[in-house]
Amino acid sequence: MINFQYSRASDVADAVRQISMEPAAKFIAGGTNLIDLMKEHVERPSRLIDISRLPLKTVEETKHGGVLIGALVPNSDLAYHPLVAQCYPLLASAILAGASAQLRNMASTSGNLLQRTRCHYFYDVATPCNKREPGSGCSAVNGVNRMHAILGTSESCIATHPSDMCVALAALEASVRVTGPSGDRVMAFADLHRLPGDTPQRDTNLRSDEILTAIELPAQGFAANYTYLKIRDRLSYAFALVSVAAALELESGTIKQARLALGGVAHKPWRDPAVEAQLRGQDPGRTIFARAADMLLSDARGFAHNSFKIELARRCIVRALTQAAQGTPQSQFDKKIR
Ligand SMILES: Cc1cc2nc3c(=O)[nH]c(=O)nc-3n(C[C@H](O)[C@H](O)[C@H](O)COP(=O)(O)OP(=O)(O)OC[C@H]3O[C@@H](n4cnc5c(N)ncnc54)[C@H](O)[C@@H]3O)c2cc1C
Ligand code: SF4
Repeated sequence: MINFQYSRASDVADAVRQISMEPAAKFIAGGTNLIDLMKEHVERPSRLIDISRLPLKTVEETKHGGVLIGALVPNSDLAYHPLVAQCYPLLASAILAGASAQLRNMASTSGNLLQRTRCHYFYDVATPCNKREPGSGCSAVNGVNRMHAILGTSESCIATHPSDMCVALAALEASVRVTGPSGDRVMAFADLHRLPGDTPQRDTNLRSDEILTAIELPAQGFAANYTYLKIRDRLSYAFALVSVAAALELESGTIKQARLALGGVAHKPWRDPAVEAQLRGQDPGRTIFARAADMLLSDARGFAHNSFKIELARRCIVRALTQAAQGTPQSQFDKKIR
């Protein structure tokens, strides 16, 4: 048993004040990731600052026609919220593809964004891991790396980001609001998560004394032509081998706007605006979708056990774009909740 202190934040300012005073402290929201990591001795916070009762649980329309999502909205409430289910079904279906019903009831939006990698070496304190212990080495590079990244890797770390929700948020070009000792700031979602480089211990660009308070979605929700396609070892309760969030805006049968983000393949949701630009002005079809897949994966590199992900990702991209173009999303559940 490793001792730690527990306190409850009374408001956002108090949460920031508490974490600024104790850099080894951690916020706890739903606790579904942090508690597991503490049980494995991967995380050893000196204090848990409970933010779960802060009033950050609303989903509201913004004056720009978008939606503002409080950081502590439970994953289930978010997926089934009428605004999200109707205007952002891509986000709803990505959330519902993750974890289990019980976990989604408990997990917060911010906790989902800030959950840590599921690399098994990261969880196993008996093995070297640069993310857990900088400078100790990466056990996965020459180890069992079937679940690991094929894009944006470094010699220091080949872990993936495990979230499904984040893949949809990347495609939807969300932004995040954070508060720290020097005030509030807004970050593009694309800038929240980092590639590992030589500092894999840092998952995000959030500072250690900042709290994430909200996620904002722009008005464009791609509700007619979208899909979230997740390929995993079991049909539920499993992390993605590869996932694709695809969204298209069609005008007279031609692609006016395209969004494509991959999950399960990198340290952050993977997008390439040049690939999306290439799709603009084209008629949807297998040939151009295959070309987009080739372009998005041109720098992909496999390791001993995960090279299959490159071809898997290629096929998933083509299938996802086809489903989006035809208006036939992967999950029929999407139709039921709308
Ligand atoms: C068995 C299992 C299967 C799973 N499968 C999937 C899956 O398929 N897809 C998927 O996407 N997820 C999956 N998950 C992960 C799950 O979605 C996350 O555990 C959950 O979203 C974390 O949310 P939480 O509120 O419980 O976070 P917590 O555990 O409370 O916190 C996680 C981290 O975020 C930090 N944090 C939380 N809120 C804030 C904030 N507002 N500001 C700053 N820091 C904050 C905490 O300090 C902590 O470091 C699975 C989890 C389990 C246990
Ligand atoms: S891939 Fe990253 S998280 Fe996994 S062992 Fe290597 S350094 Fe650690």
